[in-house]
Amino acid sequence: MASSLFPTYARYPISLVKGQGSWLWDDQGNRYLDFMCGLAVTNLGHSPEKVKEKLKAQIDELWHVSNLFHIPNQEVAARLLTDNSCADAVFFCNSGAEANEAAIKLARRYHQKVKGTDRYEIITFTQSFHGRTLATLTATGQQKVKEGFLPLPAGFTSVPLHDLPALEAAISDHTAAIMLEIIQAEGGVYIADEQFVQDVAALCRKYGLLLIIDEVQTGMGRTGKMFAHEHYNIEPDIFTAAKGIASGFPAGAMLAKEYLREAFTAGSHGSTFGGTPLATSAMIATIETIVEDKLPQRAAEMGDYLMGQLKEKLTGLSFVKDVRGKGLIVGIECAGPVADLVLEGQKKGLLFVTAGPNVIRLLPNLLVTTEEIDQAVDILVSIIEQHTAKEESLV
Ligand SMILES: *Cc1c(COP(=O)(O)O)cnc(C)c1O
Repeated sequence: MASSLFPTYARYPISLVKGQGSWLWDDQGNRYLDFMCGLAVTNLGHSPEKVKEKLKAQIDELWHVSNLFHIPNQEVAARLLTDNSCADAVFFCNSGAEANEAAIKLARRYHQKVKGTDRYEIITFTQSFHGRTLATLTATGQQKVKEGFLPLPAGFTSVPLHDLPALEAAISDHTAAIMLEIIQAEGGVYIADEQFVQDVAALCRKYGLLLIIDEVQTGMGRTGKMFAHEHYNIEPDIFTAAKGIASGFPAGAMLAKEYLREAFTAGSHGSTFGGTPLATSAMIATIETIVEDKLPQRAAEMGDYLMGQLKEKLTGLSFVKDVRGKGLIVGIECAGPVADLVLEGQKKGLLFVTAGPNVIRLLPNLLVTTEEIDQAVDILVSIIEQHTAKEESLV
């Protein structure tokens, strides 16, 4: 029977029906070790007990009321975020794209309403990914997401990562902010150099620009800190979170410094569903678990173990060009396309994704065990060995 869905996704021929911890089951009863976490979303594993209990309790109480009322859960979730980051104020929405959209709107409004300047342009970086709304796909530095959507909104430009002269040359009297993904996740797991990030922050100070860090994928403990920018000794003016913030319940957040609070006044931005009692209950339980169980530290330790094992066991394989990462976002850059390896992994019971055509991206949950990492590494090594042998027999 023909599907009633738009064909917007190239789906794998697998239907997953159950998940627990690091494991997923399909409708045929096959079991998979999950090293993608729904794209960095289920950071506590599947159906984590504390989040499940809190959501169930909230389902019995209240689901939705509208932001025309006070929502006590929102205050709690926002305080958890500000207590555990450099931010002072939070706006809740429902996705990463919406969080970035809010960040772009806040940056423009701050310059235009608070500072009284004609600044609106956002500078982003080639290969970045910021979302699929018209503004965020325009901000995105990858061409493929823009095709067929002309005309794009004005006020965005991108320059290559690590090209400071190009960045400074792109700054004009109309520049409002620089928006940076500190680890370009979708783009290929490219990690920004510490010096570059500090130079970007210095340029922002020099020209009076806001620094926006997109932490939609890198946030919520995955990289070994609550937010990836904490590795860099900088404090962004604005940053965004979404993927790992509520263990799979759709939610996003835009976080900013105190001096930006007044840029958004009543009615200047909003969302019907942003921060519902249900979404914020999932958020509270998720963030409490990340903080109380010291999951950023665990992600750092497990990430070191995973990277160490990969580096040790993949050395000498000509197909592997680089193994890089921070905490539990790890990329294996290869000499050619890796889409087939993803399918091989699925046949052997391991789920992972790509990042660009040639990079394998691993995103296990933050509670992953060393045994599970060993299993995943064994499967990865065997499929990369097989692939290397096949490539070598062709030349
Ligand atoms: C996934 C992602 C987004 C978009 O998030 P959605 O929830 O799909 O809108 C934005 N930025 C980054 C860095 C992402 O990884």
